[in-house]
Amino acid sequence: MGFSTALQGRAAHEALIVRQDAELRLMETMKRTIQMKAKCDKEYAISLIAVAQQGLKIDRADEMQGSLITKSWRSYMDELDQQAKQFKLNAEQLEVICDKLAHLSQDKRKARKAYQEEHAKIAARLNHLTDEVVRKKSEYQKHLEGYKALRTRFEEHYIKAPGRSGRKLDDVRDKYQKACRKLHLTHNEYVLSITEAVEVEKDFRTVLLPGLLEHQQSVQESFILLWRNILLEAAQHGDLTADKFKEIQKRIDTVISGINPTEEYSEFTEKHKTSPTTPLLFQFDETLIEDIPGKLTASTLTVDNLTVDWLRTRQLELESAVKDCQERQLKIIEHVNGGSPVANGSIISNGSSASNGIQSNKDSQNRQSKDLNALRCQEKQKQKLVDMIKCALNEVGCEELPSGCDDHLSLEQNFIEHGFNNEQQRSNSTSSPGLGIMNELMRRGGVLTLLRGRGRHFKRKSTPQPTTPMARMRPGRFSKMQPRSQSLGSLSLSLSTNRPLYEEEWFHGVLPREEVVRLLNNDGDFLVRETIRNEESQIVLSVCWNGHKHFIVQTTGDGHFRFEGPPFPSIQELIMHQYHSELPVTVKSGAILRRPVCRERWELSNDDVVLLEKIGRGNFGDVYKAKLKSTKQDVAVKTCRMTLPDEQKRKFLQEGRILKQYDHPNIVKLIGICVQKQPIMIVMELVPGGSLLNYLRKNSNSLTTRQQMGMSRDAAAGMRYLESKNCIHRDLAARNCLVDFEHSVKISDFGMSREEEEYIVSDGMKQIPVKWTAPEALNFGKYTSLCDVWSYGILMWEIFSKGDTPYSGMSNSRARERIDTGYRMPTPENTPPEMYRLMLKCWAADVESRPHFDEIYNVVDALILRLDNSH
Ligand code: ADP
Repeated sequence: MGFSTALQGRAAHEALIVRQDAELRLMETMKRTIQMKAKCDKEYAISLIAVAQQGLKIDRADEMQGSLITKSWRSYMDELDQQAKQFKLNAEQLEVICDKLAHLSQDKRKARKAYQEEHAKIAARLNHLTDEVVRKKSEYQKHLEGYKALRTRFEEHYIKAPGRSGRKLDDVRDKYQKACRKLHLTHNEYVLSITEAVEVEKDFRTVLLPGLLEHQQSVQESFILLWRNILLEAAQHGDLTADKFKEIQKRIDTVISGINPTEEYSEFTEKHKTSPTTPLLFQFDETLIEDIPGKLTASTLTVDNLTVDWLRTRQLELESAVKDCQERQLKIIEHVNGGSPVANGSIISNGSSASNGIQSNKDSQNRQSKDLNALRCQEKQKQKLVDMIKCALNEVGCEELPSGCDDHLSLEQNFIEHGFNNEQQRSNSTSSPGLGIMNELMRRGGVLTLLRGRGRHFKRKSTPQPTTPMARMRPGRFSKMQPRSQSLGSLSLSLSTNRPLYEEEWFHGVLPREEVVRLLNNDGDFLVRETIRNEESQIVLSVCWNGHKHFIVQTTGDGHFRFEGPPFPSIQELIMHQYHSELPVTVKSGAILRRPVCRERWELSNDDVVLLEKIGRGNFGDVYKAKLKSTKQDVAVKTCRMTLPDEQKRKFLQEGRILKQYDHPNIVKLIGICVQKQPIMIVMELVPGGSLLNYLRKNSNSLTTRQQMGMSRDAAAGMRYLESKNCIHRDLAARNCLVDFEHSVKISDFGMSREEEEYIVSDGMKQIPVKWTAPEALNFGKYTSLCDVWSYGILMWEIFSKGDTPYSGMSNSRARERIDTGYRMPTPENTPPEMYRLMLKCWAADVESRPHFDEIYNVVDALILRLDNSH
């Protein structure tokens, strides 16, 4: 069914017009769209050209010479450039297509117009005739009425005067004849016009309109054909699968396929080939440990009390890393072999990955075997470290771990030089009550003997001990059954299995290792002690043998004790066995027991002291008034909390270690230390007035200037003594001085003291008494006796202010700031001006211009003399 038959109606005609309008609009849209695509393609082409140029900016230097991958890349980029140019050409073609579309649209517009005009033309003729017919009909009707009227008139006239002539009748007749003629003419015209109209209408319907519509159909269809061709052309210019592009793609594929992994590096390796690399040598730099005596050995792990836990943890970590490596290897092997591990650890291709391509299969095999190799290396490396640590730990065996840190040894040396054994000191010390007792006890055969009221089991001799096996053997004297009591003059080792270990003279309780080491001076010297490790008590035999060796007594399942040899029911018997048999304690150490070293006189037994009442609280624990069981002497006992770590306990004993060397009326005296068991304690003379600070505050109303000056002189005397001994107190303050009878002052609390001319603090300064400390110590950590002089100035200020807080109302940091800018505290009320001048001198910013304690003492002493004389 074509246009000619289907679209004759008026509505169809109008729809055809509307359709053509829509087609014109569509054409317009297409034109615009294709224009945009052309623009877009052009821009893409430009960008692509830029991309290709960017891609060509690659190293042209020698390194990539001969590289196939570089060559391929260049070609690839060139092809990309070609591709871009092709895009540009296509875009230009699209622009041409747009013009074509524009022309087509114009033609179509014209055709639409022609159709409309033609249609109107043929329709107008029919319309015209239709109008004519209507008009003729109405004329017909009009003439018919005229005719009828005139005929009636004529008939009337005629009838009235039949056969008569007359003018009137003629006139009527004439008019009647005219009307008749007119009617007949109109009739004919009407007939003719109807006939014409019938013809025209028939032609319009059967010839002209179908002809027009048929023509129009063919015109429109030919437009569609053109249109289609234009679209086809447009589509072809965007076809990326077109041959032109295919060729480019093919060339790209070819150049990329030209990359050959095995040839890629041929030229490079040829050019750069070198002889195999020399292995890197990692060597321990021995200069690092040149200045460290003994402790650290090049390329050898150090196993000591500081490192053993770390080493064990490290060993565990490494062992778990080794295990992890092994498990991961197993997993890889299982994975590759489809779940079945292979005994020799090799990878078998199971072909299951063939679907992923041979290459990827090979790659994954390569990767897995690479991973395996890496894991095997890791395992080997870590195992090596495990073995090294194991070996180092085994080396130590049952020996107690050596101390990693001997920071107190220098002090101990000092003690030996200045200690109580020093004759001169002993005789000088008779004036002090504490030491007087000690000396007395010494003279009577040793402090411990008398304090405990027991016989001695070892006698210390200042003369060298017999060290030859023969001299030591004397079976009778060292027999197990030997009676407990021995003559004082002989070297003897008695043993009673009934007696508790801690009663043995050669058992030193929890005496720290640093002290122990100091006591064992000659090969064969030995003692037994206790150590607490990880909250477990261990008994340790310490022997001097090519250095110091410490052996932990091993306990057997049935409660016996042994080293490497046979077990014994008691530690005493074990030690006797080692002593008498002269067998080395362990084969590796070769250490032989030759001379038991007894407790020193200042090593008291905890049971020698009865704690009475708490009199103060120190940093490490409570301070008690106590009584010595043996002499009933009142003493002060500082206790160390059991829960404190070993390091703190060592620090606690530091005070004892320092004090035991000093003997001066203005320095608090040490009576002994109790390390036989926990809690460890320091026993000192009891200074009944307690802390100077409390004393000043309590007696502020009754204190006289003379008393205050006396206190200052006492403190200066004590400090002069300390300065002469190269001891820096570092914490001189009223709270750390004690008041004895007659307001006499004793310097106490040596917890921070150091025996050095200059002491540099490198660790944190958390617990520094800022308001008492000299600026150079605060700012640079540099301590000398002249820092104590600064503190002494503050102490004087405390004495004269009767226990006020220095720089009151200022925070530590504020006080520090102000001192740095020259501020000094004003004189306390009623202070003799000379004493204030002395304070200011002590607070001189220039360290060297401060007076030494000797001078201070003399100034204060002279002032007191003057005061005394004036009364
Ligand atoms: P720490 O050094 O642990 O801080 P202190 O030496 O300051 O301990 O002692 C704390 C308190 O115990 C002192 O203020 C003082 O009252 C009292 N005290 C310490 N030693 C004696 C002593 N020898 N005689 C009398 N009281 C003492």
